This record gives sequence, structure tokens and C-alpha cells, in this order.
Amino acid sequence: MKAFVTGGAGFIGSHLVDKLINKGDFVTSFDNLSSGKKEIFKQHIKNDNFRFVKADLLDLEQVKKEIKDHDVVFHIAANPFVRLGEKQTRLDLEQGPIVTYNILESMRLNEIKKIVFSSSSVVYGETPNIAISETYGATLPISLYGAGKLSAEGLISAFCGTFNFQAWIYRFANVVGIRGTHGVIVDFIAKLKKNPKELEILGDGRQQKPYLHVSDIVDGIIYGFENSNDQLNLFNLGCDSNTTVTRIAELVVDEMNLRDVKFKYTGGIRGWAGDVPRFQLDISKIKKLGWKESNTSDEAVRKAIREVLNNP
Ligand code: NAD
Repeated sequence: MKAFVTGGAGFIGSHLVDKLINKGDFVTSFDNLSSGKKEIFKQHIKNDNFRFVKADLLDLEQVKKEIKDHDVVFHIAANPFVRLGEKQTRLDLEQGPIVTYNILESMRLNEIKKIVFSSSSVVYGETPNIAISETYGATLPISLYGAGKLSAEGLISAFCGTFNFQAWIYRFANVVGIRGTHGVIVDFIAKLKKNPKELEILGDGRQQKPYLHVSDIVDGIIYGFENSNDQLNLFNLGCDSNTTVTRIAELVVDEMNLRDVKFKYTGGIRGWAGDVPRFQLDISKIKKLGWKESNTSDEAVRKAIREVLNNP
């Protein structure tokens, strides 16, 4: 299989590239290196089954040219920082629906019909205190990032309905692990390295979310792709447990062997405007296919803390 991976130099994308290469697939990694890094894929540079293209998905002509002759597109690139939308209100419009349109249109012109998309559970918006399944609605995101994801999903669905594409859309829980560059774990470790006596925690610390290890997410992406064959395959990808922000702080303190750290909460139920403070995903649909996460949320968090500490 010839795979075109957008965001292949990023956290999740690079693990996906590794997995596809290990399976014997040919991979083009297309990335503008805005948050991705070259060092992440240096082990593949001399592999004939790997090609890297440094370019921007906003450049339609370049996408049309580079996407030629692939069998499937894994669209993983995006602005990964949910909070940035507060300050840069155009960002998620460009990095959500506009780049997704550029990819879909390039696929249409080159007769590529299969797309796999990394969406997010934030498309559900503020939800009741139940595990949310793929059929939950109305989906009303509360962040610009979430709106960008939902619009991209809409375009993908429309290209399926209008041009007979086939799609796999995954709504991820929070993803953690080695090569992670942002998020609560990286933030806490950086803060504690600066000041090992006190840790500022955004919100009241009771925000509670499922955390999935990156190895599980990549496994789930490939598993769903290989084992479902509807025209539009929509899956939540997460785990059945969750972890509070205070618990993450305790685990980071423990793994860093610190004592008597004072937790200083900024207050309020959410970490920032647009943050969904509590959610739980119903992952029974992908489980019925035969996939299961191999780490609980707490296990994934602890494993990720060790990985980030050992690979700064
Ligand atoms: P990341 O920043 O590590 O990876 C994104 C990659 O896309 C980077 O390498 C970046 O350079 C590249 N990129 C961004 N804009 C681009 C553009 N216009 N053209 C070309 N390349 C571009 O982020 P990540 O955490 O690996 O996230 C990967 C995907 O998973 C994103 O779509 C993100 O929204 C989604 N997601 C992540 C999480 C999580 O917890 N990390 C949760 C839900 C969904």
C-alpha cells in the first residue's frame, strides 16, 4: 500500500509512519515542520519505502502534485493546540476545513478514494455525564479547534456522498506518550523543572478525561482501517477509564521523585475558555470490531510521564 501521511513529522503522525513502514508499506510524509521535527523520522531517511516532503497543506498546487499515485491518505496534520483559537481566530479555519478541502480536492483530481482522519472528541462539545457514543448529537463544539474538526468531518462525509470516497474518521481522546510536545504532562514537567516546590494547575484540578497512550491510538487507527469497510467508518478512539488533572500532577511529582510540592490551582471548572472539563467516550463500537486499549488511562499517563522524562 502507498500511504500519504499529513503531519508525519508530528507526535501521532510519526508513530503512524513508523507502524506503516514496519508493515512494509510505502509512506510519503507531508509536513511543514510547524510543530513537527526532522529528527523524529531520521531512522527512515535511507529507506526506499519512505519519502519526506516539506510543504504546507494550504498550498493546493503542491498538495495536488505530491499526492499523486497513493492508495490512501492519512490526514493527521492540524493545529494541535486547542487554546490557540482564543488568540488566533483564523487558525482552525485554515488548519481544519481549508486544508482538509485541499486534500480532498487533490484526492478527487488524482482518483484517490480512501481517507483516514484524526478528529477529536471535542466535536461533541459540553456533554452530559455519560459515556458519549458516535451517535450522540447535536455535536456542538465549544472551541474553534473543535469547530475546525467538525467542519473537516463534514467535508469528508460530503466527498463520500458526492464523489464516492471511503473514509475512516477517528474521534480521539487525549493522546499521551513519547515524542509528545504539548499537553498537561509536558506542561507539568516543564513547570516542575523550573520550580520543584510549587505547581500551577489550570482550573480546579477536577477536570477528568480519558488518556490514551500513543501506541494504542496508532494501533486503533490501523485496526479500524483494516477491519471496517463501510463507506464512512466513524469511531471514538479512547479508553474506558479516565484521570483527573490533580491525579496527573500527583503522578508527575511521584515520577520526578519530588516531595512536598504545593499545588496552586488557578480555579474554575475548566482549564481555559473552550476546554471541556469532563467527558467519557463510549468506545464499544471499535471494541466490537475486536480492538481494545492495552493501557488504562492512569497507566497511559504514568507510562507517558516516564517516556517524556527519559526523552526530554
Ligand atoms: P503535532 O503538532 O505533534 O502534529 C501535527 C503535525 O502537523 C506537525 O508535524 C506539524 O508540523 C504538521 N502540520 C501542521 N499544520 C500543517 C500544514 N498546514 N501543512 C503541513 N503540515 C502541517 O500534533 P499531534 O498531537 O500529533 O496531533 C495529530 C493530530 O491528532 C491532529 O490532527 C490533532 O488535532 C489530533 N488530535 C490530537 C490529540 C492529542 O491529544 N495529541 C487529541 C485529539 C486529536
